[in-house]
Amino acid sequence: MSDAVRIQLKPREEDRILGGHPWIYDNEIARTEGGVSSGAEARAYGSRGRFLGSGTLSPSSKIRVRLHSRSDEDWDAAFTRRTLDSALSLRRRCRDLRSESARILFGEADGLPGLIADRFAGTPLDPDGQPAGDPGSWIVLQVLAAGAEARKAAVVEALTDALSPDGILERSDAPVRQREGLPLVVGILSGSVPERIEIRENGLSFVVNLAAGQKTGWFLDQRENRAAAAAYAPGRTVLDAFCNAGGFGLCAARAGAASVLAVDSSEAAVSQVRENARRNGLESLVEARATNAFDFLRDLERDNRRFGMIILDPPAFAKNRAALEGAARGYKEINLRALRLLEPGGVLVTCSCSWWFDRERFRSMLEYAASDSGRRLRYLEDRTQAPDHPVVSGYPESRYLKCVIAETVDR
Ligand code: SAH
Repeated sequence: MSDAVRIQLKPREEDRILGGHPWIYDNEIARTEGGVSSGAEARAYGSRGRFLGSGTLSPSSKIRVRLHSRSDEDWDAAFTRRTLDSALSLRRRCRDLRSESARILFGEADGLPGLIADRFAGTPLDPDGQPAGDPGSWIVLQVLAAGAEARKAAVVEALTDALSPDGILERSDAPVRQREGLPLVVGILSGSVPERIEIRENGLSFVVNLAAGQKTGWFLDQRENRAAAAAYAPGRTVLDAFCNAGGFGLCAARAGAASVLAVDSSEAAVSQVRENARRNGLESLVEARATNAFDFLRDLERDNRRFGMIILDPPAFAKNRAALEGAARGYKEINLRALRLLEPGGVLVTCSCSWWFDRERFRSMLEYAASDSGRRLRYLEDRTQAPDHPVVSGYPESRYLKCVIAETVDR
């Protein structure tokens, strides 16, 4: 396109881009030609003029350009539709969209930078948790970059045409918006959206709070990991730390855990665990407590408590490089304490959703935690995110979730 901004990189800055990475940082750019405006089309070139790809501009972010294509093409309405179609064909292979919820768009990994769309299939609920309408589907959209923001109307139209949702809710209340110079907004973009719905996952019923839940309302990325962890739960006393609405703990209870103690610092999350336990007839097995998991793990250790299985699924402790050291201490502390709390032959399910704290750091943290706890571990499963959160080459940020299942070997 002739009026796209021309971005020329400094010498030796193009290798990462040629390897498939979609971001060009401000300090990698030698020259910018053309009118710079938020979300504008850009074309990127190497230092000697080699064409690298098409992207959109984020004038106030360090991530100055996000590439959506390696060809010379605008991110226009037709591009949105084509790219959404290919994202949907992946989801149709791994999810039955008639009855199952799925992440439909996973930003850069799906070729629509800055766009997250989770589609929930379920039934609206009234405040008492009773069905309050016909089954349907609703999309929760997060718009996290300037290019996506400028194309929001076309995105809503494409989603509507492709999926006929009953409503689309924008939950652009993630702080990363501020780095893009965008305000935090929440609001209905089309149709109507119930505050709360019931979805089904792993054979259980869960309440999802679309209006006020964390992120998009439900952590779809852990679906397979919840089922995998539950397979080790029969007969065990389970601690589900950082439980949110109880995804892991309730799967464990359904699979035959002797008991589940679920803790989260959020009162809202804990009351959702209780409600979800009741919905599934598991309330006699599940106790939920609102508390800081760091303190709680320490108290459990002091009281000499033991568990047959402990799940750790904390929020991202490292959101940037500067936070890595503190994050390492945080992960190490909770994993060390959990290992001390496990019975002989106990199972640890430990997660990290921080890309910065990568697989190698996570692995080494676990080794130190095992050694400091005086216990040996047998690694059973080394897992990642659900398949509706695709991983693409050249963009390591797309493989963010780690979920290791291990058991103590006490011989
Ligand atoms: N395991 C959940 C997702 C967990 S998300 C699932 O399967 O859906 C991380 C959770 O950690 C959030 O619910 C957040 O409220 C909680 N959290 C954050 N800091 C915490 C702390 N210090 N102690 C306990 N919970 C915390």
